[in-house]
Amino acid sequence: MALHSTLAPAQPGGVPQGLPALGDGVDLSIASERRLGDRIARGIYRDPDLVDDAVLGDYLQAVWQPLVKAARLRGDLSAELQERFAWELFLVRDRSVNAFALPGGYLGVHTGLIAAVGSSDELAAVMGHELSHVTQRHIARMLTQQQNQTPWLVAAMILGVLAAGRSTNAANAALVGGQAVAMQGQLNFSRDMEREADRVGFGVMTEAGFSAEGASAMFEKLQQANRFNDNGSFPYLRSHPLTTERIADARTRTQAQSAPAARPGNLPSAAWHAMMAGRARVLSEAGPDAMVAQLQQARRLPASASREQSLSVFYAAALAAARLREAADARELVAKVMSLAGGGPQIGQAARLLAIEVETLLGDANRGAALVSWSATPSRAELLTQGRALLLAGRAAELSERLQSWVSLYPRDATAWALLAQARQQQGQLLQAVRADAESRAVQFDYQGAVDRLKAAQDLLRQSTTGLAGTNLHIEASIIDTRARQFQAQLREQALQDRSNR
Ligand SMILES: [Zn+2]
Repeated sequence: MALHSTLAPAQPGGVPQGLPALGDGVDLSIASERRLGDRIARGIYRDPDLVDDAVLGDYLQAVWQPLVKAARLRGDLSAELQERFAWELFLVRDRSVNAFALPGGYLGVHTGLIAAVGSSDELAAVMGHELSHVTQRHIARMLTQQQNQTPWLVAAMILGVLAAGRSTNAANAALVGGQAVAMQGQLNFSRDMEREADRVGFGVMTEAGFSAEGASAMFEKLQQANRFNDNGSFPYLRSHPLTTERIADARTRTQAQSAPAARPGNLPSAAWHAMMAGRARVLSEAGPDAMVAQLQQARRLPASASREQSLSVFYAAALAAARLREAADARELVAKVMSLAGGGPQIGQAARLLAIEVETLLGDANRGAALVSWSATPSRAELLTQGRALLLAGRAAELSERLQSWVSLYPRDATAWALLAQARQQQGQLLQAVRADAESRAVQFDYQGAVDRLKAAQDLLRQSTTGLAGTNLHIEASIIDTRARQFQAQLREQALQDRSNR
């Protein structure tokens, strides 16, 4: 790549423009923390265990959004921070129990956490705590204390700490940074920060309408794991050591909480959580043995099992059977889930999307597409799950239209862009396909990949325009040129930052 020779040398002295000012005793600015977060996100996007599951994603958002809103109402979250941070959730395929806040408003959740908690209230307790580390600017304060560290090293350290908290072999994960494990102690929040995140997080979750019991149940779960010295499957305990003080504080807070008002209808129901916990169990472990184990659980489920238990076990087993291509079992289990779920907005929808997903996994295009129906404003899970079924059935045209309006609303949705690229490909609209693919890469900070794809599109245009479908070829060509220039500029800036900070 000839790019390097055109780079300007790093500015002598001081901090190069666009980089966090660390070690000067001043807290990281909001803009600098966001840039550092983006840099870490770049590493995470390359991790093969990062999973963009729209179904679990919608469930997580149903817990997360009320928390953010409550933090805003309580005055914990400033308008500026809300506006300028990413507020993006990463779901990591890992059976261990963990969640972590990153610089710039990124938050990571292991699938193992969703599988392990008994309710959305417990999940809200953990996410509210992590959210409060961000809103109270604990990350900025902690990073300011990392004297003499370049932002590049800080980013590498944080990625390494994340890798160390994984149950998979860290050497295989992309989240590996130099010297990271040895530095872990330095990256933990202080006891005072933990106390504050406990206190503010509790206020945020109860203000959002989650039950205070969720916080004590979560503490109990962590305490139990602590007693069994189950550190390996609870990396969360390593970053959040339980002290008698934290436990006592939590108990006092729960007791002081007045009797709960009616639970707001927008929060996840117990049945929805049960289904999503089942899904998280399947997503946490990919091997065929684990799938067989899910099926056996469904066979052994006692008749006395509660509705929630049954929904959770049957949901997981249906998905597992579909992955094993056991069509008859999968369909029988889906029918059980659907009859237990009924038609409610949260769980009726979850059951219907499960049915479509199972048919798509089984490769039955007609059955899957026959179940597709759209709400007035489709959720992301609805769009992507039904979209894959339509694609399999060769109905790309209707899908493209929906995806196109979705990405104009949510231009940072890499998975939607990637699905749009597949749909355009199926329609024979190659230029649009290549551009959608490029947008998907750029959202994940892979500007090189984006530029390469747009160059291929420009070549395609130069060679011939006769075989290219689409009505507005000139407009499409000019969009491609503009986007190529923009991504080139972002690529140069990225390379400059990388070079000047190593
Ligand atoms: Zn914490």
